[in-house]
Amino acid sequence: MSRIELFAPIVGPAGLVTDPAALPPYNTDWRGRFQGDAGLVIKPATTDEVAATLRICQEHRIAIVPQGGNTSQCGASVPRPGQGEIILNLSRMNKIIETDWDNDTLTCEAGAVLADVQNAARLGGHLFPLSIASEGSAEIGGVISTNAGGTAVLRYGNMRSLVLGLEVVLPDGRIWNGLQALRKDNTGYDLKQWFIGAEGTLGVITAAVLRLFPLPHARAVAWVALTTPAAAVTLLGHLRTRSGERVTGFELISRMSLQLVLHHIPGSRDPLNHEAPWYVLVEMDDTDPEADPQEVLSRSLNEALQSSLILDAAIAQSESQMNALWALREQISEAQRLEGISIKHDVSVPVSRIPDFIEEATARLETQFPGIRLVCFGHVGDGNLHYNLSKPGSQENAEFIRQTPAVNRIVHDTVDRLSGSISAEHGIGQLKVDELVRYKDPVALDMMKCLKQALDPLGLLNPGKVLRATTE
Ligand code: ZN
Repeated sequence: MSRIELFAPIVGPAGLVTDPAALPPYNTDWRGRFQGDAGLVIKPATTDEVAATLRICQEHRIAIVPQGGNTSQCGASVPRPGQGEIILNLSRMNKIIETDWDNDTLTCEAGAVLADVQNAARLGGHLFPLSIASEGSAEIGGVISTNAGGTAVLRYGNMRSLVLGLEVVLPDGRIWNGLQALRKDNTGYDLKQWFIGAEGTLGVITAAVLRLFPLPHARAVAWVALTTPAAAVTLLGHLRTRSGERVTGFELISRMSLQLVLHHIPGSRDPLNHEAPWYVLVEMDDTDPEADPQEVLSRSLNEALQSSLILDAAIAQSESQMNALWALREQISEAQRLEGISIKHDVSVPVSRIPDFIEEATARLETQFPGIRLVCFGHVGDGNLHYNLSKPGSQENAEFIRQTPAVNRIVHDTVDRLSGSISAEHGIGQLKVDELVRYKDPVALDMMKCLKQALDPLGLLNPGKVLRATTE
């Protein structure tokens, strides 16, 4: 029996993609670095169809790659070539199942697009706070499976803290209904956390209960110039002391990052008159429409200026100015792409160690790779930096990219020495499997393998992602 004949009775013709012309978007990863060769994509419409599909896979030993919006930064959501894997795409399961405003929760299927979830919450006067660059395509199942972060983690936490319940289909086809909408539940192991950040290696998430928050009604945004990352860490402490939970965004931006945006993105302009080595983009929000976060922000920044903690600051005076400041931050990745190939890292260290990390890693890189350009930006409040390197102006792309392992070694060794993590947001996928083996505590790695073995003994679910495939 062909594979199409195996799955057609479960999902019907609308649930199968086999046309070679339609397959490339499912087989190619977001950054264009990984290329799969699956000849079959299954698109179930219900949880029961997912369960029946996984039962067939188990019976016939077919490896399967769960996929949502396919926006992984690490090749987690595309198959590996030459392995006979198929894709299970959840995009048809995109319903908002239920909203419970008094409980401040929203329940949706795994294929719901993140931006649609944000909108559904907003229409009811509530906030779903997780915000990432790919929110127009990323789907909730994938956002949960990678434990996505973004620019509002400082105040609201990452995906791990925004999920109250999950429905998951296990590799053997059993359905776990864990869709509780509870904030307190002490009845043993917190099973949902096994699947959050597991990148689809332990089960297929089919639905989730998400936490909502009151919608902010007043905003203030400022662009601040400083001399060092250490000053940024001190400023964060100062602002939080002054305004508590109102600080929702605190993004560090190096001069080189801003320079690339000014150079490549039409219409962008420097918010300040003098150049500075480092900047911070701050946002404060308040749920009270009568509140004046701009006054709080301006007073706090004035104090920082008086004590020489900061060099200068520009406070947005209108909604469009706020958006223009945020655009400078959001366009860094695009500007860096236009500048040429880059080597990217998504690391975290304790907030207090950020200055040490930047100083140490940068000094070592500049010694070993003269002319290398640091494009460093990120979520200082979470200790998370996008520590990217652009090639020296004159160097060929291929020559620069050949140095990736040596660059990674310097960056990740520094992270490790400072008790940090080699992946703060993007996950492991295919990209960092070997780096994980190198840096993860061996006991932790062993527990991860035990969990994988217990739930997926045949190794059929997203093999070769996070952990090395058992067949390799
Ligand atoms: Zn980020």
